Amino acid sequence: MLNRRHSITVRVGDISIGSSHPVVVQSMTNTDTTDLKATVSQIIGLAEAGSELVRITVNTDAAAKVVPEIISRLEENGCYVPIVGDFHYNGHTLLTHYPDCAKSLAKYRINPGNVGIGKGERRDNNFRQMIDVALKNDKPVRIGVNWGSLDQGLLNQMMEANAGLENPAEANDVLMSTIVESGLRSAELAEEYGLPHDKIIISAKVSKVPDLVRVYRDLATRCDYPLHLGLTEAGMGNRGIVASAAGISILLAEGIGDTIRVSLTPSPGGDRREEVRVAQQILQATAIRSFTPQVSACPGCGRTTSSFFQELGQEIESYLDTRRREWKEIYPGVEELKVAVMGCIVNGPGESKHADIGISLPGTGEDPKAPVYTDGSYLRTLKGSNIAEEFIQILEDYVHQRYGVENPLES
Ligand code: SF4
Repeated sequence: MLNRRHSITVRVGDISIGSSHPVVVQSMTNTDTTDLKATVSQIIGLAEAGSELVRITVNTDAAAKVVPEIISRLEENGCYVPIVGDFHYNGHTLLTHYPDCAKSLAKYRINPGNVGIGKGERRDNNFRQMIDVALKNDKPVRIGVNWGSLDQGLLNQMMEANAGLENPAEANDVLMSTIVESGLRSAELAEEYGLPHDKIIISAKVSKVPDLVRVYRDLATRCDYPLHLGLTEAGMGNRGIVASAAGISILLAEGIGDTIRVSLTPSPGGDRREEVRVAQQILQATAIRSFTPQVSACPGCGRTTSSFFQELGQEIESYLDTRRREWKEIYPGVEELKVAVMGCIVNGPGESKHADIGISLPGTGEDPKAPVYTDGSYLRTLKGSNIAEEFIQILEDYVHQRYGVENPLES
């Protein structure tokens, strides 16, 4: 059982974030917020994929104006996912000029690097205005530090202080410390302005895994605010997925992190829901939360020259994907299901027995038959050209028997 770092609970809409609650998956749209149709459609897609919060850019008057409309369209479509407004530079103006926008959002993301904290009274007032709006509307905020838009005044101040030390630290060390300081000082200032302690979440995003780990370890020991984890500019394709998984997993394994977002650079026309699926897979692979039945397929080797087991693995995976939503409604607990599809006798029977249900396909030179195992015991052997269909039928029956509500073992 994972030993979570203690953090307080912050409510964002009807979602609770903090160590007494499951780690929350969130995502962000990449549509132009003023494109009502595209934004609503993407939010619904993200929410259906399992995003428990969705953040949208609120960068202009037009975007702020359309926010209430986005939320009512979502509700008309039965989508009640809490929507977070992402503000930079002009958040104080937009939140003040568009009270319905401020009212309808579930949380405000404030970037202390560009709202202007510590750069004179006028700029401090910008931050204060955002906090005042949060207070008035009883909303939480995320103090979202990002190294790409770090408060340069604070950085210079910390660099100068470091330069005066007898043994100055490396510039990167000072940079990381500044990121942490920026988050903590902003949170402290928000509380000075009256925002309750349990209305604050902190994030401190960087783009390298070792830096991420270091920054969050530091934050984790210095506050009890819930922490939002994620790399920024993680990169495209596999690189972004691997870097996010590596960084977030290390921290989660240490009990650090209360909500995660995987920032992937989509390929042109790519599927934005990918970031939700990756976030879920990180939580499932680290045994923190289960979202969907899992298929273990062996990697294949020279013992099986047939691609049949790969095709079957893919077929089962896509079958599970199509059945996932219905199963979840009628078969509570099915997200824990483990299915094995193995390529030969070496690890096939053993791995299949470790899974809830598994099939061991014949390797090269083996008899053309495929034993199936359920709950660690041999069930029967499939042969011939309909192995895939027959295995899927066995899988359906198994799920029904094991997770169906009329199952006497469950009642
Ligand atoms: S189960 Fe067989 S085919 Fe699959 S990787 Fe192991 S030895 Fe190779």
